[in-house]
Amino acid sequence: MLDAHAHVSFKKFNRDRTQVLERCRLAGVGVVDCAVTLSTLERSLELSSSYEFVYSSAGVHPYKVGRLSGLQLQELLRSIEESVEQLVAIGEAGLDYYLDAGSAELQREVFKRVATLAKEYALPLVVHARGAEEEALHLLLELEVERALFHCYGGDRSTALKILESGYSISLATNLCFSEHHAKLARELPVEKILLETDSPYLSPFRGRRNEPVFVLEAVRKLAGIKGVSERKIAEAVERNARRFYGI
Ligand SMILES: [Zn+2]
Repeated sequence: MLDAHAHVSFKKFNRDRTQVLERCRLAGVGVVDCAVTLSTLERSLELSSSYEFVYSSAGVHPYKVGRLSGLQLQELLRSIEESVEQLVAIGEAGLDYYLDAGSAELQREVFKRVATLAKEYALPLVVHARGAEEEALHLLLELEVERALFHCYGGDRSTALKILESGYSISLATNLCFSEHHAKLARELPVEKILLETDSPYLSPFRGRRNEPVFVLEAVRKLAGIKGVSERKIAEAVERNARRFYGI
């Protein structure tokens, strides 16, 4: 199984990262770690070079956009370019109209820059879109981005179908385990098109507990229940989808 999106490089794992990854090894769960700052990028690259089941992606989170100076943004984009050979994807990047993020205009500009990087280096793009799924889709089509994943998708069904029709992918996160909206989406989308992720340390399926990549198996269990298919079959299908998307 593969957790299609997590942040093991974040500070929240500083205390027990080794144990967290050991649990992944034991459970046979691979991880695509997503870095969004200079320090998490450095850590993520260390992890993906030390663990054969950890892969790195790097981008500029919309939440950070308004908090970075022009110079810091340049520096982050340059570091991403310098590390590009060790990355399996660019992102996450996108638009978030719920978070206290930068202005919509600035978010759009940075999203376009990151999406253009993905195109230039022929890497898939991980998209964070909240309250802006449709708009993000239009931008991707306009920029002619080929491979994109709407990670932690929480938009509506009709936009989800448009995303899939455009040849892009959707990943559902472990909030599937407790959110009726996400469970409903899972019911309506074909398994052949879905990826699963934890987005850990966030969105834990266990109340009051930090999320971690191995809990992606909870999302597998939930999806298996929804689809009436065995957990093994679901795990195989979503892992295949994730590996195809990232080319790993
Ligand atoms: Zn994330």
